Amino acid sequence: MGGIVGAGKTPGVPVSDGIGRIAGFVNSYTYVEGDQTYLIDTGASGKATAIVRAFNEANVPLSRIGKMLLTHHHLDHMGGAAFLLDLTKAPISCHAEDAPFVDGRTKAPMPLLMRLFIRVHPAPVATVLNDGDQVGSLKVLHVPGHTPGEVVFYHAQRKILFSGDAVVERSGRLTLPAPRFAANLPQAVQSLSRLRALDVDLLLPGHGVPVSKDFDGLLDALIRRAPDEFLRESPD
Ligand SMILES: [Zn+2]
Ligand SMILES: [Zn+2]
Repeated sequence: MGGIVGAGKTPGVPVSDGIGRIAGFVNSYTYVEGDQTYLIDTGASGKATAIVRAFNEANVPLSRIGKMLLTHHHLDHMGGAAFLLDLTKAPISCHAEDAPFVDGRTKAPMPLLMRLFIRVHPAPVATVLNDGDQVGSLKVLHVPGHTPGEVVFYHAQRKILFSGDAVVERSGRLTLPAPRFAANLPQAVQSLSRLRALDVDLLLPGHGVPVSKDFDGLLDALIRRAPDEFLRESPD
């Protein structure tokens, strides 16, 4: 009954071998490699319970999480990190340029109104990631713009890309998150070409649904319309 004892399932809704998606406003992903389980993005603080539930349902102890990998410092992606750190003791990794926002040394730029409603839960960063680092089979690629330290995690052999907010899915298209959240929009648009150079069969974005068809075509379409959609000066 129910699989090999001790092996457990992959927490979340399966999207590929050893990869689970825990959906919500933000997607979190579990990625199992050998005896390591990685959690990619924790979601906002309120989402931590959904992650705990996904592990319970899969019968996988939370202590199996070996590392928490953050694509960037935004609260909807890292807000649950402090809570999950308490439960798992799994070290948190993010890019050097976003680390001060994650651990609270620097206050993230946030509209005043949002600051009134959202509580920030800083979390210590154990490992700082840099472009080209390897985390298991995942390669870290620095694609700044949305935040200064935005990274994606790329599995070259399996052609799988965890893209965070560097590129997201909406209604069957690829797009960028709302411009007001971008630290440097022209740079975010520029970073798309770096993603275009990758061979991708399965895109696992921070927002939207996984994309398993025509990554190149969809990304080309975004790159073509991005100057108009995201970089045009608003008339005054
Ligand atoms: Zn973001
Ligand atoms: Zn986001």
